[in-house]
Amino acid sequence: MQDKAALKEQKIREYWQENDTFHTSVRNREGKKPYVFYEGPPTANGMPHAGHALGRTIKDFIARYKTMDGYQVKRKAGWDTHGLPVELEVEKQLKISGKEQIETYGVERFIEKCKESVFTYEREWKQFTEALGYWVDMEDPYITLDNSYIESVWHILSHIHGEGLLYKGHRVVPYCPHCETSLSSHEVAQGYKDVSDLSATAKFLVEGTTDEYLLGWTTTPWTLPANVAIAVHPELNYVTVQQENEKYIVAEGLAKKLFKEDFQVVESRKGKDLAGVRYEAPFSYVQIDKGHQVVLADFVTDQSGTGLVHIAPAYGEDDYRVVQDNDLDFVHIVDGKGRYIEEITPLAGRFVKDCDVDIIKLLAEKNRLFHKEKYTHSYPHCWRCDSPLLYYAMEGWFIRMTDVKEKMQENNRQVEWHPGHMQEGRFGKFLDNMVDWNIGRNRYWGTPLNVWTCKCGKEKAPGSIAELRQEAIGSVPEDVELHKPYVDQIQLRCECGDTMQRTSEVIDVWFDSGSMPFAQYHYPFGDKKLFESQYPADVVIEGVDQTRGWFYSLLAVSTLVTGKAPYKRVLSLGHILDENGQKMSKSKGNALNPTELMETYGADALRWALLSDSAPWNNKRFSERTVAQAKSKMIDTLSNVFSFYQLYQQIDQFDGEKDNGGVRSTLDEWILSRLHSVTKQVNDYLEQYDITNAARELGTFLDELSNWYVRRSRQRFWSSGMTEDKRAAFSTLYEVLKKTAQLLAPFTPYIAEDIHLQLTGNSVHLTDYPKPCDELINTQLEEDMTTVLQVVELTRAARNTAGIKTKQPLAAVYVLGENCVAERLAGYAATIKEETNVKEIKLENNDHLFTHSAKLDFAVAGPRLGKRVGEAKQALAQIEQVQIKELLEKGKIAISNLELTKAEVIIEKVPSNQLLLSEGNGLSVLLDTKLTTELKEEGFVREVIREVQTYRKELDLPVEKRVNLYIDASPTVIDVLQKYTDMLHHNLVLQEVLYKQYEKAKGVEVEGEHLQLGVE
Ligand SMILES: [Zn+2]
Ligand SMILES: [Zn+2]
Repeated sequence: MQDKAALKEQKIREYWQENDTFHTSVRNREGKKPYVFYEGPPTANGMPHAGHALGRTIKDFIARYKTMDGYQVKRKAGWDTHGLPVELEVEKQLKISGKEQIETYGVERFIEKCKESVFTYEREWKQFTEALGYWVDMEDPYITLDNSYIESVWHILSHIHGEGLLYKGHRVVPYCPHCETSLSSHEVAQGYKDVSDLSATAKFLVEGTTDEYLLGWTTTPWTLPANVAIAVHPELNYVTVQQENEKYIVAEGLAKKLFKEDFQVVESRKGKDLAGVRYEAPFSYVQIDKGHQVVLADFVTDQSGTGLVHIAPAYGEDDYRVVQDNDLDFVHIVDGKGRYIEEITPLAGRFVKDCDVDIIKLLAEKNRLFHKEKYTHSYPHCWRCDSPLLYYAMEGWFIRMTDVKEKMQENNRQVEWHPGHMQEGRFGKFLDNMVDWNIGRNRYWGTPLNVWTCKCGKEKAPGSIAELRQEAIGSVPEDVELHKPYVDQIQLRCECGDTMQRTSEVIDVWFDSGSMPFAQYHYPFGDKKLFESQYPADVVIEGVDQTRGWFYSLLAVSTLVTGKAPYKRVLSLGHILDENGQKMSKSKGNALNPTELMETYGADALRWALLSDSAPWNNKRFSERTVAQAKSKMIDTLSNVFSFYQLYQQIDQFDGEKDNGGVRSTLDEWILSRLHSVTKQVNDYLEQYDITNAARELGTFLDELSNWYVRRSRQRFWSSGMTEDKRAAFSTLYEVLKKTAQLLAPFTPYIAEDIHLQLTGNSVHLTDYPKPCDELINTQLEEDMTTVLQVVELTRAARNTAGIKTKQPLAAVYVLGENCVAERLAGYAATIKEETNVKEIKLENNDHLFTHSAKLDFAVAGPRLGKRVGEAKQALAQIEQVQIKELLEKGKIAISNLELTKAEVIIEKVPSNQLLLSEGNGLSVLLDTKLTTELKEEGFVREVIREVQTYRKELDLPVEKRVNLYIDASPTVIDVLQKYTDMLHHNLVLQEVLYKQYEKAKGVEVEGEHLQLGVE
C-alpha cells in the first residue's frame, strides 16, 4: 500500500531525476573546497536492514549539509563483493557444503556462481537507497571484484611485501571448521557469544608412583588427547596434598579451594623444582617421543583451576610457544572440518567441541577425572556461519602489523572521533592489543594473494598486471581474469631457472575494503590528481561494529601505504534496538523493515526519527511508533503550516518572491528573531556534528511556528483585501517557510524540496545553507515571549488540574515571578487572556493570594541537628506566617532555642481558597477557579458556538457565507443565549438568530441541555 507520503516523495524523486539535481549539486561546487567522504561498501547479497537506514541517513545528512555549506562532496558508491559470505550463499544455493564438494562441483563453475550471486539484491539496495533519499553515485561505483580494483590491491600488497612486512608463518590462528579457513583477529572480534562449557581437572600420574598425581586443569577438555605437557609457574609455591589414598600436586594458593578443609600437606616446593617431572597422560591414542613432562611458563597463575595447565600445542597460542621453547613434540588430532582424526578411536569423525562430555566420561572410566565444572564464558563464533571457532596451529600469510603498531597509535591520535571516547577506548584498546594480520584465506572467491613462490625459497609479488605479464612464462591476455582458478595457471620465471607457482590463498575481504581510498580510483594507475584531492577523507561514517572491521582495515592499509591516517574524522554509530532494548534480528522476529516503514510513513519521517531520537552514537530503542510520531509531530506539522500558507496565498495571489513589505507586528518580529536564533544554533551544532541537538532545535521551532505564530496570526489572513498587517503576515510566513525548508533540507530532503519548489520554483538542495542575520535577533523579545508561553502553559495546566474546560471563561489569573516579570508581560495581557480564556491578568503581588507552609528538610537539617530534629519539627509545625516571611527574607530564623536556615526548611506556597497554583521556570500562576453564574452562562454560550461551527463544517458551507441560525431549546437556555446575541454574531458569520424550530434541524447536547440547531 502506497501512502500519500510515499507517493509525494516519489514525485520529488522524479523531479530530481528529470533535473539531475544530485549531480548538479556536486557540479555547482566545482572548484570549491572538497569535503571528502568515503562510502563503506555494503555487500549486495543480503537485504538492507534498519541499521543500514541509520548509516545511510547520517551519511546523506552530512553530505547534503556540507554541500549546501559550500563544499564539493563527491559521493562514489561501492560494493563489497568478495569473501566467505558470498561463497556460503552459493553453497546454500547449490545445496553443497565444504571445500570437498566445491572441488567436486568445479572451482571454475563455483566462481562463476559467486560472481552472479554478488548482486542478488542490487535492485533492492538501489531502491532502498533511492527511497531513503540517499544521494550517492551508484552509476559509477567501485566494485572490489573489478580487475582495476584488484590491481590496486595488488599494488598495495606488493609494496608491503617489498617492505618485508608480508611473511609466511606458522602460528595458532582462529579457524572456522565449517568454512575451513582461518580468520583474522578483527573477524574473530565480531562474533563473540556467551556459551556454557565444561572445564575439567584431570589426573596425570607422576611417573614412578602409583598414587601421586599432577592435577592439570583445562577449559577445553576435548584437547586432552593431544596433551604434550603440563605447565607450572616457576615462582609459585606448589604443595603435595594427601587426601584419602591419593596424593595431588597443586598450587598452594588453590589447595584450600580444591580440597576444602579436609587435606594434609605432605610436601611443598617451588614450581621451578617441578620442571622435568615426567608423568603418564590420561590418554595414549597418539604416541609422542618428547613430552609428557612438566614445563615452566609465566602465563600460569594461581587465580583459577589448579595452577597447573594442560598444554596441547596445536590449539593455543601460549601452548604452542611453550612447546616450541621446550623443543617438545607437536600433536594434531583434529581434521580440517573440526573432527577427531582416526587415531582417537572412540571419538573419530566427531566434531571436537561436541565431545567435551565424552572426554569427561572417558576420564572418569579410567579414574583420571578429579573434577568437572560448568562455566559460562564469551566464546568466538564465525562472524558469517556462526560455527564455534577452534584455535589451530597453521601455516599462513601474515602482515607484520606489530611493526607499525606505534605508527597506527599515533595516527589514531590525529583522528577526531565521535563519540570521543572511541579514540582511547574501544578503538585505542584494539590497537594496543594488535597482532599480526592473518591475511590469507584457503578459499576460492576473493582477491588472489599475489605472491608466487619457488622451491628455491624465492618469492615474487607483482604489483600490477603489466608486471605480472612481464614476469610470466608464456603470454597473459590483456583482459586476464585475475580470480581463481585462472590466475593459478599463471607461472612466473624464477632467477634460479625454475618456475614459480602462485600461493593458493585469496585474501581477507577486510583488506579489500581497507584499500578503498586507493583502489576506488585505481591508484596509482588511474587519475592521481583525483586520488590526491580525495585523500584523506574528512569523514567516514559506519556502525560501531566496524571498529575492528572497516575502521581498522582502513587505518591499517593506509598506515602501511602512506604512513598516514586515511580519515580525519570517524562517526561511529550505535545499534538500532527494539522497543525493549533488544538487538534486532530476523530470527527473533523483532527486526524492522525500513522499506515498509518508508512506504507507510515516508522516508522523511524515518529519517527524522533516526536523526532526532538520540545521538547517532547511542544505541537507539526504535519501533514503528517512533517513526509514526516523527511523522505526526514533525512532518505533518510542517505540512499543515505550509497548507495554511498556500490556501491563503492562493486566495490573495500573494507572491512572496516579489512582495516582502508590510508593517510587521511584534509577533512577526518574534518569529523572525526565533528563526535567526535557531539558524545560528543549528549552524553551531552542525559544525560540531551534533545532529541530534540541531534536529531538536528545529523541532521546537516548528512547534512554535505552528502552535504559536500561525495560530496567533490566523485572523490576520482572514481579513479581506491586502492590509499592511496582512502583507507583513504573508511575507513573514513566506520567509520563515523558505528558510525552514533550507534548514531542514539535509534532515528531511523531500518535504523541504516540496515546500521550497512551490515557494520559489528552485531546488532547495542547490541553495546555500542559511546563515543567521544578527540584526534580526531580539533576545529580549524572545525571552519575553517565552515567558508568555510559559504563563499560558501553566494556566492551562491549572485548568486541567481543576477539570475546567478551555471554553469555560474564568475570572482571573495571578502571575508572579522574578526578573521584572510584571513589566515584561504587561504588553501581552490581551494575548494571555485570549489564550487562556481568562477575563483578567493580575501581575501585582498580593499577600492574600497564598500563605506558606514550612516543614523540616531532614536530609539537610538532620546531620547538623542530630537528636534535636524532633524539636525542630515540632517548632515548625507551629510556625506563624510572619515568621516564615522573616525566614524567607533573612535566610534564617530562631525558634524555640533553635536557629534554622532557609536551606533546612522546605517552604511551599499554599494558595488561598478557589485559587489553583501551578509553578515552573521561576513562575507562579494562580488561577481563580470560582465560577459565577455569569461565567457559567458565558461558558455555555461558547460551547453552543462551537457546536454551530462544527455543524457549519459538516454542511461544508463556504467560510465567508452569512447564514440564518435557528435554535430551539428550553426557555432558560433561550434566555441565556439572548443575553449573548452580540457574542454569537461576533463569532459566527450570521445574518440572524431565530429562536424557533427548523425542519432539518440537528439535535445537540450542551452541558446536559438539549438544543435543536438549524442553519440556512
Ligand atoms: Zn564459518
Ligand atoms: Zn627459484
